[in-house]
Formats: sequence, C-alpha cells, structure tokens
Amino acid sequence: MKIGIIGGGQLGRMLALAAHPLGLSPVFYEQTADTCAAAVGPVSTGRFDDHAALAAFAASVDVVTFDWENVPVESIRPLTRFTRVSPPAAALELSQDRLTEKDLFRRLRIPTPGYAAVDRASDLARAIDRFGLPGVLKTRRFGYDGKGQAVLRTPGEARAGFRRLAGQPLIFEQFVPFEREVSLVAVRARSGEIRTYPLAENVHEQGILASSSAPFTDPRLARAASAHVRRLLEEMDYVGVLAVEFFVRAGRLIANEMAPRVHNSGHWTIEGAVTSQFENHVRAIAGLPLGDTAAVGHAVMVNFIGRMPAAARVLAVPGAHLHDYGKSPRPGRKLGHATVVAASTAAQARARRTLLALRRR
Ligand code: AMP
Repeated sequence: MKIGIIGGGQLGRMLALAAHPLGLSPVFYEQTADTCAAAVGPVSTGRFDDHAALAAFAASVDVVTFDWENVPVESIRPLTRFTRVSPPAAALELSQDRLTEKDLFRRLRIPTPGYAAVDRASDLARAIDRFGLPGVLKTRRFGYDGKGQAVLRTPGEARAGFRRLAGQPLIFEQFVPFEREVSLVAVRARSGEIRTYPLAENVHEQGILASSSAPFTDPRLARAASAHVRRLLEEMDYVGVLAVEFFVRAGRLIANEMAPRVHNSGHWTIEGAVTSQFENHVRAIAGLPLGDTAAVGHAVMVNFIGRMPAAARVLAVPGAHLHDYGKSPRPGRKLGHATVVAASTAAQARARRTLLALRRR
C-alpha cells in the first residue's frame, strides 16, 4: 500500500511519522523540494495546477490524501481515474469556500453564525441591516489563521474592512461573543465506521491557535458535536480525519469551520490519545481498522509560532514532548508544538501556563 500525500508541511510530516510504524512509507507532492516533510519521505515537486505531474504522482500510489485543503479541486477530481482519493474531492471543494461550507452546515441543521455573501458594498450594507454589528468580514477562499478577515464594530470599520478585502468574493458573519472555542476531530473508515475524539478546548491569539486542552469534558456538548460531525462525514461519504471548529455561546455549539484533514487542534492526540489523529487518518485511507480514540490523560498542546524556544528549555518541563517541524522561522509561522499529558486538570492547567511562558521569552 503506497500513500501519496499532496502537500509537504508539518501535517504531512506527522502523517508520515505515524505511517512508518505501520509499514507504510508515504511519498509527497509539493511545490518546492525544500519542505519540512522532505525529512521523512521523498518529495515530487510540481505546481498544484500541473495536471500531468499530478496524474503521474497519483498513478504511482494506491491512495492520494492531502495535508492542505486549498489545492485546486480541478487538479484533484481527475486523479480518481488513476487512484483512490481520500478524503473525496467534494469535501475539499465544500471546505474551500466559506459560503458553500456554511450552506452545507445549514442544510444539515448544524447551527452557524448568521451569514451572507458579499460581492458589492450594497451586499455588505444589506447584511449589516439584517444581522447588525459587530460582524466579521472574511474572504470566502484561502483564508486561514485569521488571515483575510476584518472585525467590523462600527460603520467606519465596515467601510475600511470592505475597502481592504474587496475585489474577491467575501462573506459577512455575525460576530459571536463566544465563551470558548472547541473542536471535534473525527475519523471515518472506508467501511463507514466513525470514531470521534474527545472535544478539545482551543485558545486563539490573533486568529492563530495558541493552545488546545483535551478532553474538554461536557457530555452534552460532546454528544451534540459528535452528532453534527457524523452528519457531515456521512453526507460527504468521507474517508479519513475531519475536524470541525465550534464556538460555544450560552451553552450551545455554533459551527465556525471544518478542515478536511488532520488538524492542529488534534496534535494533542499524538501523546494524549490511544491512537493519534495521524495514525487514524492513515488507517482509514489505507483500509485498516480504526484505532481507539480515547484520551489517556489530560493533555495540553501549545504551538510555537514565529520563534522556537530552545529544545532544552521545552524538555526541562516535566512530561513535555517536543515537536520541532524543522522550518525556518518567519513571523506568524507555525514552527513546532509541545504537549504535556497530565494526571489531573489542575496539573494540565499548570503545564499550559508553563508551556505558554516558553513562547514569551
Ligand atoms: P477562522 O479563520 O474563521 O477560523 O477564524 C479565526 C479565529 O477568529 C476564530 O478561531 C475565532 O477566534 C475568530 N472568529 C472567526 N469568526 C468569528 C465570528 N464570526 N465571531 C467571533 N469570532 C470569530
């Protein structure tokens, strides 16, 4: 069984690290050879719109998967002539556009913030009339880590936000004054079997994930999230790992977005769950039995962004596991993370503070 991964970032790298013990050695397709997954597998280089190169790559493997969802769908759809593609191209397509994604949530009765498509200034005025301010104006495509977004609190900010983002399809969303953010990572096998991880509680700073703590124990929310994600997996006839991020407001879930791949808020599962999200994604797409998704303690994962602390300082934290992606530093870039699996929620909170302090010095 040969796995081909389109995209060679840290997610691809961690997928390969999980695949190797199963006797599987993934290969990558990336735009440049100088990518962090190159340390763990061979990389074919080519553009994401080079149909011939992608076809040759697909024909050389038994299954194609992704570590990045913004590969053009027109490049992916034809690959099913050469090999199995998991998750399906339709899932990439739906999640690439915030409008089609929210329409899908609504169709499946998954609550979302109020939203409206914005192409012209008059659309924005109508959306603000309907939903009021504050709101968030976002690009429909290619937004990640809070990029391509403007929070609109006043009519002046609405005009400035529109001027900055106009020229591409946009979406206006009601601002959700959330109490917390949580995510659910789930996996669906080729057989249709679904397993869900416990909820993680996520804290973002400037739109970028800073920390995830899991399990976030709230049986009612966990049941609701799991029911929502099951409907998505079944609707898309999905195979592999899917992550859905939710706001929690007044004790209810409001879906923000989904990612048709392994997810940063699931990195805690490497040490904090019986089977990691990476291994379960590999198992699912390879047609192998899924592994247990139960948590083995109280995990906290902290991202290192823009600057890696010295390894010795991270590893001096009791129980800390370091993941350095081997990427060159750049402001706002995810360079690595650390996870501690604690025995209690109090120890988890202490470990979180200690790991977050490493980001500041
Ligand atoms: P996103 O790229 O949509 O995941 O947004 C990044 C982060 O911005 C989210 O995790 C939230 O912290 C914040 N955010 C995005 N959309 C909204 C919203 N409609 N209301 C409140 N906060 C939001």
